[in-house]
Amino acid sequence: MQEQLSLLNRISDELNSDLYPEPMLRRVLNLTVAHLGATTGSIMLFDQQNRVSSYILQREDLTSESADKIVGTVLTEGFAGWVLNHGAGDVISDTYEDSRWVVYANQPYDVRSVIATPLRRRQRVIGVLTVVHDEPNRFELADLQLLNAIAGQAAIALENAQLFKQTEQERVKLSAIINSTQDAVLVTTPENEILLLNPAAQEILGLNGESTQGNLLSEITDNDNLLKLLSPNSPAAGEVSLPDGRTMWGTVTELADMGRVTVLRDISAFKALDKMKRDFITAFTHDLRTPLATVKGYIELVRMDGTVTTRQEEDLEGITRAANQMKALIENLLELSRLEQLEELKKEPVNLEEVIQSSMGTVAPLATSKNINVILSDIKNDVVIEGNSVLLSRAMGNLLDNAIKYSSFGGQVCVKLEQNNGQAMVSVSDNGLGIRAKDLPRVFEKFYRASAELDEVPGTGLGLSIVKTIVEQHGGQIWVESEVGSGSVFTVALPALENGHDLAVTN
Ligand code: ADP
Repeated sequence: MQEQLSLLNRISDELNSDLYPEPMLRRVLNLTVAHLGATTGSIMLFDQQNRVSSYILQREDLTSESADKIVGTVLTEGFAGWVLNHGAGDVISDTYEDSRWVVYANQPYDVRSVIATPLRRRQRVIGVLTVVHDEPNRFELADLQLLNAIAGQAAIALENAQLFKQTEQERVKLSAIINSTQDAVLVTTPENEILLLNPAAQEILGLNGESTQGNLLSEITDNDNLLKLLSPNSPAAGEVSLPDGRTMWGTVTELADMGRVTVLRDISAFKALDKMKRDFITAFTHDLRTPLATVKGYIELVRMDGTVTTRQEEDLEGITRAANQMKALIENLLELSRLEQLEELKKEPVNLEEVIQSSMGTVAPLATSKNINVILSDIKNDVVIEGNSVLLSRAMGNLLDNAIKYSSFGGQVCVKLEQNNGQAMVSVSDNGLGIRAKDLPRVFEKFYRASAELDEVPGTGLGLSIVKTIVEQHGGQIWVESEVGSGSVFTVALPALENGHDLAVTN
C-alpha cells in the first residue's frame, strides 16, 4: 500500500513536471512497468474519430513499421480494441487461453499475462494503457485498480498538456501577426504602463529593442499627440504626428480588465495626396477669380457702350447669372478648403441666440423677396457654447438660406433653440418642397444637389458640406428629417457650456 502511494506520488510529480505529452507519458510508463515488475508496456492515444494519434512503447526495439501493424491488429481484433469498446480495463491471466490477445508474427518478446485500462476524459476513451509480462498469472485485480488510478491522473495531465499546447500555438500565431504587421501596436494598462510594443511601435518611438515593459508611456515618449490620445476621456481616434514628418492615424480600443490597445497606421501618403488636392483646388479657384471679374467688367462695358435691345439685355442678364453662379461656386470651394485646412478653431464663449439673430439679418432680404415669414419659437436664453461666432453664423445662415430657397412663395421658416443633457440643439424647419428619402443621406455630400427639378434654384451643392464641416469642427452633429411636400427640419447638436460656467472654470 505504502509502495503504491509513493508510486502514485512519483507519477503525479512526473505528470506535473512536463507540459509535453510524449516524454511525460513515457516516464509514467517506465515507472509503472518497473513497479509492476512487468516486461514492457505501451500507451495508445486516440483522436476524436478513435483513430490512433500516437503510440508510445516502453521498449524501443520495435521498428515503426511493425509497431503500425501491431496497432492496426490490436485495435480491430485485440485487447486494446476490447478496452476501447467496453470503456473498461481488464486482466488477461494467460494469453494462451484468452482470444482477446492477438499474437502477431515476429513478436520480439513473449506475452503471457496482460493488464490494460482506458484513459478517459469526460466519458470518452482517449487512450489505452497496457502492461505485459512474459509469464502467465503475473497480474491481479489490485494491479488493475492501481493502473486505473495512474490512467486517471495521466488523462487529466494529458488534457492540460493539450490545452497548454493549443494556447501556446495561439500565442505564437498571435505574436507572429502582431510582430509582423506594419501597423504600430501598443498595449497599455489604464495607468498607461506599457504591456506590449510591437517592432513597428518600437521604431515609431525611436526605441532600439530595449525593454520597456512596465515603464510609463510618458517615460519613453514626449509625443504630445500620442500622450493626448491615450489620456483619460480623450476621443478614441486621432492623428499623431511624428518628429520625422510622418502622420499616423491612431485608434484606441478599451479592453475590459486589461487596459487599452492602440493601433497606429501610417497615413502620410493620404495626407500628402489630400494636401495636393486642396492646394490644387485653392490655386485653381483663385486663378478663376480674375477672368470672372473680367467677364463681369465686360458686361458693364457693353451696357455703357450704348443702348442695348431688350433681347440683348436678357442675354446680358443670363451671362451675369452664370458669372454670379460661378463666383458663388468659387467662393464656396475656397471657403470649404480653408475650413478643412483649419488646424484648430479660435474659440470663445458664443451665445447661440445672438448667432441666430445675426444670421436672420443676413437672409432677411431673400425672405422678404419671397414673402416668407421667419419666426423664432421656443428660443431658450443663455445657451452658450465654446466656438467661433463667425463660422457658426455662416452655418446658421446657410441653413436659413436653404430653408427659404427651397420653400414656395409665402412659406414659413421656424428656428428653435433648446438645451438638453448638455447639448445645445438648434433646428431650422420649413414647410417647403422637402427632400426625397433616397436623397436624404446624400445632401451633406460635396456638390450633391437633390433634384433636377430644382435646377432653377441657384446653388452649388456645397452649402450643407460647409455647415457639416463647421458643426463637426465644434464637436457637434447635424441631421435632417424631411418629407416631400411637407418640408424639412435640419437639427444641429453642439456641446453646450453650462451658462458659460465650464469655460469660466477652465479659464
Ligand atoms: P445648394 O447650394 O444646392 O443649396 P446645399 O449643400 O446647401 O447645396 O444643399 C444640398 C441639396 O440639399 C440642395 O441642392 C437641395 O436639393 C437639398 N436641400 C437643402 N436644404 C433643403 C431644404 N431646406 N429643403 C429642401 N431641400 C433642401
